[in-house]
Amino acid sequence: MHRFLSISSKSTSLKNQKQLHLPLVSSVSSATPKGQSCSHYFNQKSPSLGSRLGFDRFISSGYFPNRVNLRGHERNGNGFLRLKGLVGEIRNYSSETDRESIDYDVVIVGAGPAGLSAAIRFKQLCREKNADFSVCVVEKGAEVGAHILSGNVFEPRALNELLPQWKDEEAPINVPVSSDKFWFLTKDCAISLPSPFDNKGNYVISLSQLVRWMGVKAEELGVEIYPGFAASEILYDEDNNVVGIGTNDMGVAKDGSRKENFQRGVALKGRITLLAEGCRGSLSQKIMKEYKLREKVQAQHQTYALGIKEVWEIDEKKHKPGAVLHTLGWPLDSKTYGGSFLYHMKDRQISIGLVVALNYHNPFLNPYEEFQKLKHHPSIKSLLEGGSVLQYGARTLNEGGFQSVPYPVFPGGAIIGCSAGFLNVPKIKGSHTAMKSGMLAAEATFGVLHGGSNMEAYWDALRSSWVWEELHRARNYRPEPHIFVSGSVHFHLHLFI
Ligand SMILES: Cc1cc2nc3c(=O)[nH]c(=O)nc-3n(C[C@H](O)[C@H](O)[C@H](O)COP(=O)(O)OP(=O)(O)OC[C@H]3O[C@@H](n4cnc5c(N)ncnc54)[C@H](O)[C@@H]3O)c2cc1C
Repeated sequence: MHRFLSISSKSTSLKNQKQLHLPLVSSVSSATPKGQSCSHYFNQKSPSLGSRLGFDRFISSGYFPNRVNLRGHERNGNGFLRLKGLVGEIRNYSSETDRESIDYDVVIVGAGPAGLSAAIRFKQLCREKNADFSVCVVEKGAEVGAHILSGNVFEPRALNELLPQWKDEEAPINVPVSSDKFWFLTKDCAISLPSPFDNKGNYVISLSQLVRWMGVKAEELGVEIYPGFAASEILYDEDNNVVGIGTNDMGVAKDGSRKENFQRGVALKGRITLLAEGCRGSLSQKIMKEYKLREKVQAQHQTYALGIKEVWEIDEKKHKPGAVLHTLGWPLDSKTYGGSFLYHMKDRQISIGLVVALNYHNPFLNPYEEFQKLKHHPSIKSLLEGGSVLQYGARTLNEGGFQSVPYPVFPGGAIIGCSAGFLNVPKIKGSHTAMKSGMLAAEATFGVLHGGSNMEAYWDALRSSWVWEELHRARNYRPEPHIFVSGSVHFHLHLFI
């Protein structure tokens, strides 16, 4: 059933290396029995590897419960370890002094819109050019989508370019925006204003469902996704080039000591490493500092807002699929940037949230309490009454915009998506720009590995793309001092401009 390629991996060789053979799987369903989970298959076939690499915790993207799994592994007759992938190649595997190490051509950190778009675009190019490069994605969430806040007004521009057939392939995007309202709130009233947003052609979606679906698409193309693993360190070579990442150690006690179940993290080495960690990614921050990426293009420091979001299930009679509402004003005071949003998704679900810029003047302001107040506003309370909370979470958003975009290329890789700050602040949308930046970085990566070009092509492509044009158009939205207009009003009135 499996054909082995005899060509060597192009990855740089490692000390003490063994070879990890990745066979060509002649049919997807032969990789694992249909419907069987990857982790189950891993551990059944060879319990030792699962535990040695820490793959016991492997949970796949999990969008379709009965979907075909694409990976597994077993020992061959010579005792070599074999990983089964959709595409076949020999993977270098080494046991360095203190930890296991696996070589890939491309290592991507983060399975959000940016990371998965990069993985998909890269593998599409491999198919088009009949090239065989390996890609792995590490995701710190227990499964793909677990750390993505649901409830999103999605602009499908990048997805149309990446997977134009998404409508036929059951992408979880099926609620077009049906109305777009904009209110100014006082403590007791809601005053309707013309909406500054243009959400025509956009959809109200669950972003976590979309990335799960994208995870499946990526796996179908041969991308290896490892959820449950945080990339916790950057690996450098002796010339200070990035050569991959190390995953976090497991079984560490609170005081830092090693527990009985301690497992050293794995080194995932990549000829190119793409950082797609989302807003204020920890490794991305280190890389920006290490290579002075802001200074390189005189970018300003990044600024942030906090977004608190809840997904509710409400009474069917009150539910209007596709309805979009943004508010400004109460409960935020006049010196605080921010506003709220309320999106009606499908299945009686709504997503409600409050965004508060983190430069608020009042040191006693508590964004969570402001959000609680918002839900008790007379025009919102009635909608939520009788409903229940299904999910909640909070995340930061980049607010720096165009002026805060760093040089996104470093020796050995690039930064993509919200890690680099591509969120369009006045639109409060960053999924489409994150995806497009991932696609452009993937094209540059392919150029490096296949055509011998360099990663700077990503920076050039970015500046000629619609992402740059969008961010440039919105460039004066946030930095302008708000002298005459109060914070919240300013936050949204600029959208009319
Ligand atoms: C409250 C709120 C509302 C929003 N509303 C909208 C909207 O309506 N429309 C819109 O288009 N955009 C919206 N956005 C912005 C949008 O969510 C982001 O722009 C988009 O998700 C960015 O994609 P990304 O792939 O760059 O990062 P993310 O979506 O943040 O994905 C990063 C992934 O990387 C993982 N990760 C991070 N660090 C590591 C690590 N070290 N190791 C392994 N994995 C790691 C994370 O777990 C996560 O899964 C909103 C954001 C917030 C916070």
